[in-house]
Amino acid sequence: MKISVLDDRLVNRIAAGEVVERPASVVRELVDNSVDAGADDITIWIEAGGRSLIKINDNGCGMEHDDAILAFERHATSKITSTDDLDAIRTLGFRGEALSSIASVTRMNLQSRTTESEAGTEVIIEGGLLKNVKSCAMPVGTTITARRLFFNTPARRKFLKQPRTEERRVKTWLKQYALAHPEVRFRLFCDGKEAVNFGRRDSSLARARDQFRGSLVEVHYSGSNSDISGLIAHPSMAQYESAAFVLLVNGRVVSDRLLLKAVREGFDSTLKEREYPVGFIRLDVAPDLIDVNVHPQKSEVRFKEPGVVFNLVKEAIGSAVTEFRAPVAGVSRFSHTPRGSAALQLNSQSDTLPLLPQSGPVLFKSSRNDMAADTAVAGVGAVVEDALESAPETAAVETSDFRYTDLRYIGQALDCYLFCECDGVLYVLDMHAAHERYNYNIIRERYEQRAVQSQQLLMPLSVELTETGLSSCLDNEILLNRFGFEVEAFGESTLLVRSMPAIMAEKNVPELMKEIAAIAIDEVPGGELTAAVLEKVVDHISARIACHASIRSGKKMEKAEVYSLLSALDGSEFSSACPHGRPIAVAFKGSEIERWFGRDK
Ligand code: ADP
Ligand code: MG
Repeated sequence: MKISVLDDRLVNRIAAGEVVERPASVVRELVDNSVDAGADDITIWIEAGGRSLIKINDNGCGMEHDDAILAFERHATSKITSTDDLDAIRTLGFRGEALSSIASVTRMNLQSRTTESEAGTEVIIEGGLLKNVKSCAMPVGTTITARRLFFNTPARRKFLKQPRTEERRVKTWLKQYALAHPEVRFRLFCDGKEAVNFGRRDSSLARARDQFRGSLVEVHYSGSNSDISGLIAHPSMAQYESAAFVLLVNGRVVSDRLLLKAVREGFDSTLKEREYPVGFIRLDVAPDLIDVNVHPQKSEVRFKEPGVVFNLVKEAIGSAVTEFRAPVAGVSRFSHTPRGSAALQLNSQSDTLPLLPQSGPVLFKSSRNDMAADTAVAGVGAVVEDALESAPETAAVETSDFRYTDLRYIGQALDCYLFCECDGVLYVLDMHAAHERYNYNIIRERYEQRAVQSQQLLMPLSVELTETGLSSCLDNEILLNRFGFEVEAFGESTLLVRSMPAIMAEKNVPELMKEIAAIAIDEVPGGELTAAVLEKVVDHISARIACHASIRSGKKMEKAEVYSLLSALDGSEFSSACPHGRPIAVAFKGSEIERWFGRDK
């Protein structure tokens, strides 16, 4: 094999693979450059979601004739000169590869003028090839136009999402980014229509107040080499997507597990397990305390002292959260939150049962022989626990001829369990798990047959999501339609639900939509629904709908309902476990029960 050094154009295109992923990443790099150039007025135009055109105008310092050409060279930057600089980066850019990368996959036009020069310079580059340089009349600043993103790499162009989706990504990013740069005026036009117009503000907090709604509390911390400020929304506004919370570090929008964890811990027990709060924090730390050179798109940072940062953030958030505990805020949690918002679902989710060890089997029965000895002391509860623990190995019960319809129903206990008996065996059924399995099977079956029964809502239901959540739901609209949902966007982050699967109760819809938003984001990350991903998503959504459609523990079941559930289970596949894999029924042989009481001797 012969080795050769790649030519610059090829190298740039390869680099573009890391830096330029989609229109939003082009916008991000170009706007970073404008901010670094000291601009305080930046306007962005995109057409067809940025697929056909991305244009940025700024009133920054501009470039001289020679620099305007040099800027397109790989590793050409005015921002650092030595490795020492790399240890304390004060600008947003420093890698000197954005312009060269973007120019290699678009048709680009740059116009730039400094205060010192009378005329501007115009540079035209197509697919990384310099086509023309001339002078032009223009005000001080820079205008960059990038057309036909990925025109020369069709495979990558194919991966771009619908214009609407790409547009939403640009918008979402800009709103987050604008929080970090309140002193800059930002405008965004999508296909000629104004989509964002943020005037200059004195602080990030002031800008955040334009964006976040509801009950809000400010976060403040000021130390010798780090500052934290932020705005957090009431825990009842929490979402299932991590993107609901915006993290800004030294002027960048970052995704950082550690910071997010600190934020969640600051919220303490006010959040449920999967929830993420809504709000933002802005961290400004001395540049030598972080390394921003860990990700080509600079969306991750590394802290020199992660533990210190973690505690600072956690405490700053924690003390802000206590303000929500004041009586007035506490009341608002249950009363004046709008219909469809998170607050309404506070009670409906908490009854998910803890998972038993995954065993996936059938009916449980105990095989312990030495139980009698400690029964008297431990009490029945402990014995049953033991029985469950030892159950998995022995779980392969004679299921072939087992039928739920053969059971005689005795009664309901502890709000959730149905006691039945048959042929000298006592069966305890988890009615929620049973119902869930039954519903799940129905939903999957009707989904496959494209026969899901949908129910029109009298009034459309509005569900408050994040912008990304909304966008993911809409990306998967066809899938949702097949499940019986008719949805549309209402504003930036609200989803209007016009119809839903008939099997569900309306009150559970907001909760479910939030879950679906999170599923769509987690499991369809690149937005590509391959058959395997689709299968997983369908399964997941079916399970969630089944869960929300099922009888909640606590409800009293009529005898007739129990019998119809039992016969439904007989008609169901996999009727031994709910979709989460929890068992539906546990069996206790009469002889075993006798042993608990020492009657077998
Ligand atoms: P980096 O931002 O990492 O330095 P880029 O490829 O993004 O690398 O830009 C290269 C150089 O071009 C920058 O260092 C800067 O000097 C110049 N430049 C780019 N955009 C602008 C702009 N909008 N205004 C002024 N100078 C710019
Ligand atoms: Mg740059």
